[in-house]
Amino acid sequence: MAYLGEDIGKLGFGLMRLPRFEDGSADIDLICKMVDRFLEAGFTYFDTAWVYGNSEEIIAEALVKRYPRESYQLATKAISWIGCKTPEEAQAHFYQSLERTGARYFDFYLLHMTGGPRTTVFDALGMWDFVSQKKEEGYIKHIGFSHHGTAEELDEIITSHPQVEFVQLQVNYLDWENPINQSRACLEVAAKHGVPVVVMEPLRGGLLATPPENVARVFEEAEPKQSPAAWGLQFVANQPNIITVLSGMNSMEQMEDNIAALEGFEGFAPGQMDVIDAALREFDSFDLVPCTGCNYCAKVCPQNVGISGAFLAMNADLMFGRHVQEWINWGGGKNPPSACIECYSCEDACPQSIAIVEELKRAVPLIG
Ligand code: SF4
Ligand code: SF4
Repeated sequence: MAYLGEDIGKLGFGLMRLPRFEDGSADIDLICKMVDRFLEAGFTYFDTAWVYGNSEEIIAEALVKRYPRESYQLATKAISWIGCKTPEEAQAHFYQSLERTGARYFDFYLLHMTGGPRTTVFDALGMWDFVSQKKEEGYIKHIGFSHHGTAEELDEIITSHPQVEFVQLQVNYLDWENPINQSRACLEVAAKHGVPVVVMEPLRGGLLATPPENVARVFEEAEPKQSPAAWGLQFVANQPNIITVLSGMNSMEQMEDNIAALEGFEGFAPGQMDVIDAALREFDSFDLVPCTGCNYCAKVCPQNVGISGAFLAMNADLMFGRHVQEWINWGGGKNPPSACIECYSCEDACPQSIAIVEELKRAVPLIG
């Protein structure tokens, strides 16, 4: 089904977790091959952001310079609550994104990560009026925002900003009834307003692609040929009012698996929701930290604490019974949880509203 007059397949290419070498540089050859395969399979939606490292420059090389502009949709985002004190600084994200991508215009442009204290920053800096102006000038086709907050907040934002055409929401089966991210309730609010949805984090930062053994066994017994990731993606694509489902693919194997899951997918067969329910009951046996590894917290931590790595290691310990010390420095800061000085800066930046300080204290006996 087409939304907003755009014919978009149900798999979107999320560019936050692109394949990189050990020194952090992008594996451009592999990314070009993944872009080729993605387009060849009939999928066309690419999602980046001003704050995703140098992913806007990477997609300029791998996509924008190699394919006709009208053959794909490109989305990017402005994150005005990081480092912007004036309207000019906030607007600069848009102009920098335009320059970095070389895309001439954006099919979908988002205000990045509303929810909690972040929401009012976009109003205070005049960003809603700014994106409306850019749309009138032809630089933006569709205006939206990505939301990490409650359904009530979502309702308020859509109600008070009539220029909203779409919203990006965190939806996955593990967060379906999560009191913080409220996947189900947020989807219902968007549907009530007639606003279609782009889904992010369908696999909860990769956790649902490689779940613990008791969860994986549920899927294996139900359908041996289908991966846990495919179950997670199909659960989301099965919902109404979905434009596309973003997957942060970082290998060709993941891409092939994701394409197989959503190419020609027309909805769950009877009984498949029961399998998801059984997997959820297995997840209930763990007291996990709902960290997705986005590392927004790392950008504001004065102590350079390896927050996401600590939570990844702690969750691994809970689910897989193994301690993975090297994950502590993964992608974020380099210091152990005990270095935290309880300034709470990270908690305002966390899209999952995790009580980071308390959870880090839980991690200290395990990690240090
Ligand atoms: S509360 Fe601790 S972990 Fe969070 S930003 Fe402050 S020092 Fe870093
Ligand atoms: S603690 Fe929050 S901000 Fe930090 S990586 Fe996890 S989800 Fe992202």
